[in-house]
Amino acid sequence: MTEHYDVIVVGGGGAGLAAAVSAAERGASVLLFESERELGGSTRLSAGMFTAAGTSVQAALDVRDSPEAFFQHYMDLNQWLLRPGLIRAFCAHAGAALEWLIELGVEIPAQVSGNAHQPGLCQAGVEDVWRGHVPKDQGYGVVLALDAARRAHRVETVLATRVQRLLTDGDRVTGVVADDVAVSADAVVVASGGFARDPELVARYYPAANRAGEALFVVAAEGSRGDHLRFGEQVRAGLAGDGWGLMLPTAYFQRKHHWQSGFPPKSRIHVNAHGRRFMDEDASYAVSTGIIEAQPGPVWAVFDDRARRALPAGYADWDAAKVHDEAEAGRTARAGSLPALAELIGVPPAALSAAVRRWNEQLPHGTDEDFRRHETLRNKGSAAPPEPISEPPFYAVRTLPAELVCTHAGLEINGSAAVLDQDGAVVPGLFAAGEAGAGVLGARYVGGGNAVANAVTMGRIAGRTAAIRADRA
Ligand SMILES: Cc1cc2nc3c(=O)[nH]c(=O)nc-3n(C[C@H](O)[C@H](O)[C@H](O)COP(=O)(O)OP(=O)(O)OC[C@H]3O[C@@H](n4cnc5c(N)ncnc54)[C@H](O)[C@@H]3O)c2cc1C
Repeated sequence: MTEHYDVIVVGGGGAGLAAAVSAAERGASVLLFESERELGGSTRLSAGMFTAAGTSVQAALDVRDSPEAFFQHYMDLNQWLLRPGLIRAFCAHAGAALEWLIELGVEIPAQVSGNAHQPGLCQAGVEDVWRGHVPKDQGYGVVLALDAARRAHRVETVLATRVQRLLTDGDRVTGVVADDVAVSADAVVVASGGFARDPELVARYYPAANRAGEALFVVAAEGSRGDHLRFGEQVRAGLAGDGWGLMLPTAYFQRKHHWQSGFPPKSRIHVNAHGRRFMDEDASYAVSTGIIEAQPGPVWAVFDDRARRALPAGYADWDAAKVHDEAEAGRTARAGSLPALAELIGVPPAALSAAVRRWNEQLPHGTDEDFRRHETLRNKGSAAPPEPISEPPFYAVRTLPAELVCTHAGLEINGSAAVLDQDGAVVPGLFAAGEAGAGVLGARYVGGGNAVANAVTMGRIAGRTAAIRADRA
């Protein structure tokens, strides 16, 4: 290891690998630190779904789209709480970042996909023009391709080494300290992910997550310890995204991401404390958590025994035997009739019976006039109508946002991924991207693919601008 580099990258997930490769592509000498024994972070665990507009994959499927339309949707969904300049830069570069991944070997077939598990193009959130690009081999495939490029460019990489702090000279960042060794650089890119694994930081910067109480579980990678926030304090960095993150709705008994936990029965309705159905049960993450949080009191997934028995085997949580055991233990409500179930969960019996009756009249026959769920099911490639909810015993499972996926509070960046201080001035020598570099991930998750696109797009920009800065230096 030499003692001085053009660019040091902290963190080897999607943002860090993209930054390291793009800096190296411009001829910079790059050193990458990764705190864990393996590269990849949350990016490796993800589906790798990537939101982008105006791509070759969309074009091959005759989907007309543009970065401008993407920008408009992104800002509207986030109620214009984000900085338009930064979001414009992100939306303008996301398509090119996706093409870059494809050039590096990521495979995204030009075919319609129903969800984050089928390679192709799917509906990412609530956009009218589909923007969810699902790669073959998912997030692992993205990391593999970036890692191959990293090796091809001979980016020096130190695994199992957690960067402790930034080196500074006045207001300028001049390197990092890791294993108590100082290494200098013309530019440092912080790409250390989020803080989901640090309960104190979650309480401080994303307290809404703790509303899940004992049901809360974290699926983000182990390395998501919030070091970016500690680095930021050293240089009075501005903070963006405070209070925001992504919580996914789950059953109270889930403890794993749905790939392992499994999925609730298709033939179910969600009812609120008034016993009323209030949502499309398959609504995208872009809106589902917000809809559930807006309800008065608890929310329940109601289904019947036929639906329970039909759950596919092999999943950790949504499994027929597990639901039976939860009911036996008294944690899942179970009753021989809908009025009796309503009594158990404390909702008006007449309302629950009416909600189930209305469902039975509609969805098993192919339409959902109230919530248009048949359209969501069709977009997911799940066209066969669900069964009626009619076979006792009936079950009610408490459903709430309890799965913490990623966090959005981080170092405020501009469209060049340069970190800004609390007065809005650029911190010389410091760049950030991914969950660590904040401002792109907003109050609303724009759709599956928002976070990987942010990591790779802003990481690529950070690496490029850091290399240019190093050139000047
Ligand atoms: C199960 C799961 C599924 C998901 N699915 C999707 C999806 O399909 N689409 C989508 O858009 N988003 C998805 N997300 C979210 C998305 O994966 C992440 O937000 C994104 O990949 C974060 O990228 P990153 O580079 O910022 O962080 P990471 O990929 O987590 O990388 C950060 C790296 O920095 C390392 N690190 C931390 N501190 C230090 C330090 N001090 N020194 C050195 N190294 C350090 C960490 O170990 C880690 O490897 C998913 C997340 C999870 C957990």
